[in-house]
Amino acid sequence: QTMGAYFDAACARYAERDALVVRHQGTRWTYAELREQVDRLACGLRRLGLAPGDRIGIWSPNNTEWVLAQFATAKAGLVLVNINPAYRRAELEYALNKVGCRALIVAPSFKSSDYLEMLADLAPELAEAVPGQLRSARLPTLEAVIRLGDETTPGTVNFPALLGVPSESERAALAELGSQLQFDDPVNIQFTSGTTGSPKGATLSHHNILNNGFFVGEAMRLVPGDRLCIPVPLYHCFGMVLGNLACLTHGATMIYPSEAFEPLAVLETVAAERCTGLHGVPTMFISVLDHPRFAEFDLSTLRTGIMAGSPCPIEVMRKVVERMNMAEVTIAYGMTETSPVSFQSATDTPVEKKVGTVGRIHPHLEVKLVDIDGRIVPRGETGELLTRGYSVMLGYWGDEERTREVVDAAGWMHTGDLAVIDEDGFCNIVGRAKDMVIRGGENVYPREIEEFLYRHPKIQDVQVIGVPDDRYGEELCAWIRLRDGESATEDEIRAFCQGQIAHYKIPRYILFVDAFPMTITGKIQKYLMRQASKEKLG
Ligand code: ATP
Ligand code: MG
Repeated sequence: QTMGAYFDAACARYAERDALVVRHQGTRWTYAELREQVDRLACGLRRLGLAPGDRIGIWSPNNTEWVLAQFATAKAGLVLVNINPAYRRAELEYALNKVGCRALIVAPSFKSSDYLEMLADLAPELAEAVPGQLRSARLPTLEAVIRLGDETTPGTVNFPALLGVPSESERAALAELGSQLQFDDPVNIQFTSGTTGSPKGATLSHHNILNNGFFVGEAMRLVPGDRLCIPVPLYHCFGMVLGNLACLTHGATMIYPSEAFEPLAVLETVAAERCTGLHGVPTMFISVLDHPRFAEFDLSTLRTGIMAGSPCPIEVMRKVVERMNMAEVTIAYGMTETSPVSFQSATDTPVEKKVGTVGRIHPHLEVKLVDIDGRIVPRGETGELLTRGYSVMLGYWGDEERTREVVDAAGWMHTGDLAVIDEDGFCNIVGRAKDMVIRGGENVYPREIEEFLYRHPKIQDVQVIGVPDDRYGEELCAWIRLRDGESATEDEIRAFCQGQIAHYKIPRYILFVDAFPMTITGKIQKYLMRQASKEKLG
């Protein structure tokens, strides 16, 4: 089924149930009301001249309009392009041009950044343009800028103006269009985080993300009446798929506490809205638990949710279960290219397994672990993780070559992650294949050494990479950020390792640094560290 057809059926089925609550805007809609707004926006976008297959970007924090755009673009056959609200001029230009966006929905500003000003810098022609007829030298495909909010800006189309009541013939045309769309048409382009290079635009179909949202909701045991608090971003699959699509496919309520994560807003929302589920990355749960007003709020309605994005320390998991009542919280692993989730723990997985693994493979997906020659490795050994099934993306937009590098002829997605799968099928992510260091024929996993070095009392943060070496092929290099006010010598760090880890795992080079190169989403970019190390080590 297409997203639009599924959406209509779900809205009819759950018509009187709460669909969407956006606390910071006062939105409170049932599924029937959500459907009406989505249909209006879909017709409004078509009135702008946008046609099936056209790409339309959205550059905004979480809000009601984002949710409407997600479903309205799907119904109108458009391809929604998620643009990270942390992007600035150059990244926006790259993203819009990479996939050829014809339109862009933009929040005027966010977190003291003026988005319209940045856009006007890129496209000075905007000020003089007739709304919907922009001709910009640097953004050649962009024709329409749709501005959120009630105010007007020269050259832009007002979002509220797209929500007018459509005529009967417009509604009929929308329904007719819906019947022509295919479930394997593209519906969404999401950019990868750019941890290992420039971000890639993964093209996802209706089938890809709708099914993934369904199985994510199944693993959480969502049911109609569940109320999910979603403080994670919508531009990311965590919000739009693990949040919205899991809710839509289970008749649950999507509840947004704020534009961007704020721990107090989460506490207030869970208590006031009687939420039964909560999503977050581990650091979000930590800041909610540590909030000085934590004890004031009644979180007894919570039960389930997803923690994903990075490994969770066991003490945090214990507190989430005991103090936040989330005995059924699940852990997930995924990547943008696979819609995203492929592994998830179950609601009844023991806590120890929830912190030590990313759960088991999702239904209807296949998995194998292979060595460097593509041979399947025995159970319990490390190999590159490959997955196959409905969730594998259509491809990187306009980049067949890079697509073929990661999706092979048999349909296997080469994740680039190294993993181990135990006897019971639980998967542990060991690190990225690109980050594995081969020193004198010995495979070394940086994460193992990082975890060991973290125990050193003076070390705040540490990252380990491989650098080229004539004798051993590669040598280990540790970048260390010391705690405030501490100082240490290289010898002191090496002495800490002696006798504790194998000699070949002790870093040959140690660099003390103030910071690591990072993506705007906070992932460490080891490829940039490798480049910089060459210079630093001479
Ligand atoms: P790029 O592909 O542009 O270099 P990226 O791979 O970081 O960036 P994403 O698709 O956002 O972009 O992230 C997917 C990756 O995140 C996975 O391949 C994996 O390395 C890591 N990851 C995701 N979930 C988990 C998890 N639960 N535990 C450990 N690592 C995870
Ligand atoms: Mg990746």
